[in-house]
Amino acid sequence: MAIVQAARRKEKLAVMFLDIDRFKLVNDTYGHQVGDLLLRKFAARVRGCLRTGDTLARQGGDEFTALLPNIGNIEDAYVVADKIIEELRWPFLLGETQFLATTSIGIAVYPDNSTNAEELIRCADMAMYQVKAQGKNGYSAFLPDMHTAHLDRLSIENDLRKAVKEGNQFELYFQPQIDAECEKVVGVEALIRWRHPSAGMISPDVFIPIAEDTGLIITISDWVLREACAQLVRLKEEGFGELRLGVNLSAREFDRADLLERIRLPLDEFQIAPELLEIEITESLLMKDVENIVARVKHLRGTGVNISIDDFGTRYSSLNYLRRFSVSRIKIDQSFVRDLNRFSDSFAIIQAIVGIAKNFNLQLIAEGVESDHQVAIPRQLGCNEMQGYYFSRPLPSKQLIEFLRLSKEV
Ligand code: C2E
Ligand code: MG
Ligand code: MG
Repeated sequence: MAIVQAARRKEKLAVMFLDIDRFKLVNDTYGHQVGDLLLRKFAARVRGCLRTGDTLARQGGDEFTALLPNIGNIEDAYVVADKIIEELRWPFLLGETQFLATTSIGIAVYPDNSTNAEELIRCADMAMYQVKAQGKNGYSAFLPDMHTAHLDRLSIENDLRKAVKEGNQFELYFQPQIDAECEKVVGVEALIRWRHPSAGMISPDVFIPIAEDTGLIITISDWVLREACAQLVRLKEEGFGELRLGVNLSAREFDRADLLERIRLPLDEFQIAPELLEIEITESLLMKDVENIVARVKHLRGTGVNISIDDFGTRYSSLNYLRRFSVSRIKIDQSFVRDLNRFSDSFAIIQAIVGIAKNFNLQLIAEGVESDHQVAIPRQLGCNEMQGYYFSRPLPSKQLIEFLRLSKEV
């Protein structure tokens, strides 16, 4: 109806496709009741950003669409998107916990992108996927070349199966981790890349959740562990023998009894000291089936492998688990670092995290540092290490070695 009207009045309209970032995590961590509550509160906030006459609809799951009739140009839709992103800077109160939710928004415009309703929604959906792939928490307009790049969830799943079977579409990149004092490289984090034969690079943010749901994550992580260990040997041969290696594992993997075995295998094969390996886990898992997980993590720690808590501060951070897991390091989530310029809230949060780290005797790394400012403040507050584009993007193996050669003596 809106299209018919817009056509008659020669007006434009915009369709927004919104998807809550990492919503699955809320359900997995806090349970469906809290997830439902977040959906309702999220919808209410978004609705507050719209004009009367706009329509907000839930498409299903954590996906929403908004119809903005009668816009002058796409910039009008950007204004609304900005408002929504801004509105989400404040945490939601879900029961006892505060939760920061962000969203990825795709925007399509009638008649520019399509004159057909379904097609218009699909365009907005594709644009949303682009935002997800580029790091979430933002918006993007539909661009014609997204057509070719678009893959829906089902085809990603199928292609992922194929990729896992064939095994040559994955690559491992490495991002240097820098000592805040002397600026030497002290470690690298392994980050997986999927080079899809037709769609190009697909972000781990897109395919890792699917890999988790389908169980493919086990094979993928085994590949990552092995490949990362092989890289560590290569680095040693190049004269960089002391570097620590960070590997991300998914929460799901801690549910399985064979975790230790899977980690030990590549360490043994490449004769790597377990102390050089650091497993990065996100806070979410620290809640489910706690006793079994505590036992498993303890056992893992007993072998010398280090544990760090990734994206610290964004989810459920129980201080008690920090102690029980004998975590070695916490990684301050990039969202706090990113906001350092504009919001003193983040400053206070980082300050608080530094306090926790000091008291628990934990190492601290600030993630996502991009500017002078974002390096200076965490350093001044007492972060031991930094990781971010300011120093280096994640690099393929060869380039990492070049980077290490050029940087200060390791
Ligand atoms: P993460 O473990 O928190 O990794 C940090 C992410 O931030 C990486 O994104 C990295 O490229 C990005 N990053 C680093 N510095 C900066 C910066 O200065 N600015 C900005 N904007 N971003 C920066 P990436 O590689 O896309 O990975 C995203 C997430 O996917 C990772 O978050 C991790 O949770 C997951 N992931 C990546 N590789 C693996 C893997 O091998 N296994 C598992 N299970 N998950 C993985
Ligand atoms: Mg990580
Ligand atoms: Mg992180």
